[in-house]
Amino acid sequence: MARARIAIAGFQHETNTFAPVRTTLDKFELGGTWPALTQGAAILDTFTDLNIPIGGFISAAADWSLVPVLWAGAEPGGYVCRAAFDEICHRLCRGLLQAGELDGVYLDLHGAMVVDGFEDGECEVVRRVREIVGNDVPIAVSLDLHGNLSPEFFALCNVVTIYRTYPHIDMADTGRRARHLLKLQLDHAAPLCKSFRQLDYLLPITTQSTRREPARRLYADLEQTPVAGVLSADVAMGFPPADIEHCGASLLCYGTEQAACDQYADQLLASWQKSEPEFIDPMVEAEVAVQQAMSITATAAKPVVICDPQDNPGAGATGDTTGLLRALINGRAQGVWFGMLWDEEAATLAHDAGVGSQLQVVLGGRYPAPGSADCDAPLPVSVVVEALGDGNFTFTGPMYGGARARLGKMALLRIDQDDCDVHVIVGAVRTQNADQEIFRHLGVEPSTCRIIVVKSAGHFLADYEPIAEKVIFAEATGSNPCVLKNIAYRNLRSGLRLGPGGPVYTRA
Ligand SMILES: [Zn+2]
Repeated sequence: MARARIAIAGFQHETNTFAPVRTTLDKFELGGTWPALTQGAAILDTFTDLNIPIGGFISAAADWSLVPVLWAGAEPGGYVCRAAFDEICHRLCRGLLQAGELDGVYLDLHGAMVVDGFEDGECEVVRRVREIVGNDVPIAVSLDLHGNLSPEFFALCNVVTIYRTYPHIDMADTGRRARHLLKLQLDHAAPLCKSFRQLDYLLPITTQSTRREPARRLYADLEQTPVAGVLSADVAMGFPPADIEHCGASLLCYGTEQAACDQYADQLLASWQKSEPEFIDPMVEAEVAVQQAMSITATAAKPVVICDPQDNPGAGATGDTTGLLRALINGRAQGVWFGMLWDEEAATLAHDAGVGSQLQVVLGGRYPAPGSADCDAPLPVSVVVEALGDGNFTFTGPMYGGARARLGKMALLRIDQDDCDVHVIVGAVRTQNADQEIFRHLGVEPSTCRIIVVKSAGHFLADYEPIAEKVIFAEATGSNPCVLKNIAYRNLRSGLRLGPGGPVYTRA
């Protein structure tokens, strides 16, 4: 039998509809913590060994003829501009038209892309691909655990797999599972049976880590051998800072018997609904977080890690709010390494001045976040430049390990006022800190710090929790709102509840 010909492509974006910075084509061309936009055969060279779904798919598909088309991903951010979306889709579709006869298509997508004009970006991508390949060619998709899935999207795909870890250490594994499920579909005469369910409450990102209960247990359930007639089940916990109809968690099952899929989906849904009270938000006010960290580090051997989830660039926030930094300075915190703050201007000034220079800079606060107050205004401060970096290094943590960072100018600044001992990394590229190499690039060994501060909501846990005495979630303002009942949603579906035990949303 001839080898199956499978076209492979990827288009990843996690869109925060509250974020002030829109996502343009150049963001996809750059990539950032993702690889740069890649087309054709170069995809096989670039992705094969990376912890990215398409990399896992490629490595598991040696017995197929793969037709690599295009892969594009950008840092999470605001709405994807229509021109960028249309251009990337155009290149993807042109590649499929030129691919010749295909037995299947694999798409490495995110699940939470919102485009100017399309609330459900992935649905539109798959619709355009379906238009080219027709209904008889199976489409397999892998998604991020933060996907906001619609029934229309689910209907268009033959099979879907979703990450089962947050932090996402199983991205490549999810691509491998997509290959496995696509193989089962190719070997099955008819389309596989499938079931789709949506949870009736939103899950704040700060409660979603699969390193903690109840998500740890609920995701472990998915690894169990499914019941007869069911081949695979997955859950997306959703991405709450997206003001769209199908925001929220959903689950899906594939199998060979419809009744078995429906029953298993209902059983999973029931266990997620039952676990609702266990999703407890861990956030404390920034000032309280600083005081807690200081009192713990008085006796602790290991660092305390404070995260600033509401300004997590990995969820599309700017990564430049100053609320937590201000709380550290005002609290006279000692032994603090804060990494990092998005501030190209400060990084450039530090590079121009050189190591050892004393400078007056105005840090962050360029993009007022919803609900932001004076505490988030740009912060004028006296600093000493302690180290400089060009932002080119290799990540080593469990999530990004092996990938190249291209973060532009970076600088380590020591705050030189107010009897505090606070060091801040500023960088030219907006980036979530989920990897200790961001500190090491500037000569700081994280395990020797007393207090580490990162702008991240969950991904930092994979690399930082193992070295931490304690992790504290600080509540400071930013455009990744995590207190869901306070968000001014306008476009959710009625009946959805805003967080575990939260109020019921009614659409105007
Ligand atoms: Zn995610």
